[in-house]
Amino acid sequence: LRNCRICKKEAIVYINYANISLCSEHFIEFYERKIFKILKQLDLRNKCILVALSGGKDSVALLFALYKLQAIFNYKLKVLHIDLGIGDYSKRSLEVSAKLTEKLNIPLIVFDLKKEFGWSIHDAVKIIRKPACSICGLVKRWVMNKVAIENECDYVATGHNIDDVNTFVLKAMLTYRPEDIIRLPRPILKPNLEVKLAGRIRPQFYATERENLLYTLVNGLDTVSIECPLARDAKSKKYRQIWEEIDKVNPVGKINFVNTIIKIIDKLDTGEMSDIKLCKICGYPTYSRDICTFCSMRMRIDSKLKNEES
Ligand SMILES: [Zn+2]
Ligand SMILES: [Zn+2]
Repeated sequence: LRNCRICKKEAIVYINYANISLCSEHFIEFYERKIFKILKQLDLRNKCILVALSGGKDSVALLFALYKLQAIFNYKLKVLHIDLGIGDYSKRSLEVSAKLTEKLNIPLIVFDLKKEFGWSIHDAVKIIRKPACSICGLVKRWVMNKVAIENECDYVATGHNIDDVNTFVLKAMLTYRPEDIIRLPRPILKPNLEVKLAGRIRPQFYATERENLLYTLVNGLDTVSIECPLARDAKSKKYRQIWEEIDKVNPVGKINFVNTIIKIIDKLDTGEMSDIKLCKICGYPTYSRDICTFCSMRMRIDSKLKNEES
């Protein structure tokens, strides 16, 4: 490690794609500037942002950075923690989330799946024959949107990093799922309140996993270090390792990869968003079908649990 490019003090990190070494103070500045660049594309004055906080490094870094940038943009912050009911992992996640929001004095909304639905993710994965992470993702998206709308929040902010996005795209390509790429999560999705759809912001879209972790460390923030036990065998982890190899060959490759994909899909007019309706059961948005994917899954789980009771 060399000295900090800016102040010449001892560096704590080398950012390979930018070829710079930074001290902790200037790393914080570098990191927050990335978040700033995404947020400045929106007029956030007096808007409410609901931050989805799991307690992991990504969302902890996200909340802390949004908290620090609040004075510049003048938005309001609320925090949502979804209690997934996955044993000790969930207990620890709630603990970390409660502690951080208390420290920052931001209201915390806890959505407990078992209390609200009568089943947890742990129960759902035993019934639905799909990978745990995809069931969990579907439930989370529905809950985040519902809680945002009910609490008059314009946007939901989530902690996706560039490694998540790239792994998602690579996996979609290698498993021939072009529809996943067309629906690629973007840094910003504007709200459409007419159809009860809150906007989405992914402020860490261009931050790496390592940068998120480092940001929590230099700010002395506690995070959940245990991994979700249900994600243990997730295929994504294997695809993720491929990126480590690519990173050695071309450090700018990650950024170029995602920007190439975005440029291509921006040229396509998929007409996807125009076909938006309200779900006949929950009243939240659904694409093309009458009943949203979440409600269809919920009905299957509920009927299975009912059968088991009788
Ligand atoms: Zn410095
Ligand atoms: Zn529904």
